[in-house]
Amino acid sequence: MESRAAYGELVRRSRERALLASCSSLLGWDEQTYLPRGGSSFRGDQMALLAGLHHERATDPVVGELLAEVEGSDIVADPDSPEAANVREWRRGFDRVTRLPRSLVEELARTTSIAQQEWVEARKASDFGKFRPWLEAVFGLKRQEAACLSRGGDVYDALLDEYEPGARGADLKTLFEDLRADLVPLVAAIAGSDQGPKASSLVGDYPVDRQQVFGEMVAAAVGFDFEKGRLDTTAHPFCTGIGPGDTRITTRFDPRDFSGAFFGVLHEVGHGLYEQGLDPAHHGTPMGEAVSLGVHESQSRLWENAVGRSRSFWEHWLPVARRVFREPLHAVGLDDFHAAINRVEPTLIRVEADEVTYNLHILIRFELEQALIGGALAVEDVPEAWTAKYREYLGITPPDDARGCLQDIHWAAGLIGYFPTYTLGNLYAAQLYDKADADLGGLERSFTRGDFAGLLAWLREKIHRDGQRYRAADLVRRATGTGLDHRPLIRSLRCKYGRIYGI
Ligand code: ZN
Repeated sequence: MESRAAYGELVRRSRERALLASCSSLLGWDEQTYLPRGGSSFRGDQMALLAGLHHERATDPVVGELLAEVEGSDIVADPDSPEAANVREWRRGFDRVTRLPRSLVEELARTTSIAQQEWVEARKASDFGKFRPWLEAVFGLKRQEAACLSRGGDVYDALLDEYEPGARGADLKTLFEDLRADLVPLVAAIAGSDQGPKASSLVGDYPVDRQQVFGEMVAAAVGFDFEKGRLDTTAHPFCTGIGPGDTRITTRFDPRDFSGAFFGVLHEVGHGLYEQGLDPAHHGTPMGEAVSLGVHESQSRLWENAVGRSRSFWEHWLPVARRVFREPLHAVGLDDFHAAINRVEPTLIRVEADEVTYNLHILIRFELEQALIGGALAVEDVPEAWTAKYREYLGITPPDDARGCLQDIHWAAGLIGYFPTYTLGNLYAAQLYDKADADLGGLERSFTRGDFAGLLAWLREKIHRDGQRYRAADLVRRATGTGLDHRPLIRSLRCKYGRIYGI
């Protein structure tokens, strides 16, 4: 086959796989939102069929032949062209799926499915001992997976590559150690300050229907397109891009506290803006897909924290919030409100952690999973290692396994190498925000006017539109002019929290 025709066939096949994947995403969304409980077993059959069809197409040897046809041809001569990027990423994906024996893939699916159910039970009972054999099984299988993928290279990198293509564990280790060295004293200084917000200052009556309206109003104002997306309620907030014109976000509401749902919405809106900003002309090919989990998370954290927890954002929105939630907010001033939504306290649970302590939760998981996969730490010693690190980094001691090493589902689900993308997201977010701020000449001024269009247009141009044209680290380097760096995040934290806590 002529190489142009081979490329066309690869595009056709890529789009077909994307359609199958989008059907799975839609069924997955439905499972979390509206599926009646009685339908869950049948839904499992539907999902398994789609996963099987997808796997069959992804591993079809014809894909390998087509790739061989176009690799080295004129089509990919310019490495920055859409064609070259697509071929590079198709090759990466094809090698990953075909290096894994079918028996291992099936064993992993089976084991992680049971391990997640066992995790639920073990967490309920707060008993790591119950979960231990399953965690050992998962890490055993993931080690085998990594060995197949890495072909003698670093096993952790092979797993990390699934979520953050091109990233290396050794680089992250150095970067994260620098980050930790700056964060630990900052957390200690905040904990030792006698200034700062009180725990309960915003608690009150926030009717859920009004929270929904306010959340949607803000989401639309920052640029989320409700003609091409929707917001629903789930136990665990998430965002899923079904396809062009269909991006769905979810949140959960607490009628006594508006901040959980509100910042949850803003976080998922950040993910949603990225999905809505991908180039629809490239849909179904890598050029039309998000580049990495780290960059995805950078978009959510940028809108949630850098924008949504800024004083200037609330200069515009607090008067509106006071009209919507009169009883709890009418007497709260801007400075007190701003301090309250930025309260810092070392706590046990990652998903509830504030912006300053959050990354320490991630670093702990990153260090432990690296040690586990490399064999330096045995699964049975996890609770002890977990406790030691929480003491050292956050100055607190988990009273039990449920609030310690059993709190996250990731490892049970086989997601090893996933945690560091959260911190990468926070670091990228700070770098991107700084550069956008410099390029656009002061974002805060526009926020006080309720104007977010400039920032969104900047992100569209620098990040969203390129899909997977460049690897994540290169994309951010092109956008910001610098490599991955922990200092912009530290600078912004020191500046904001220095004022709030008088340190
Ligand atoms: Zn996120």
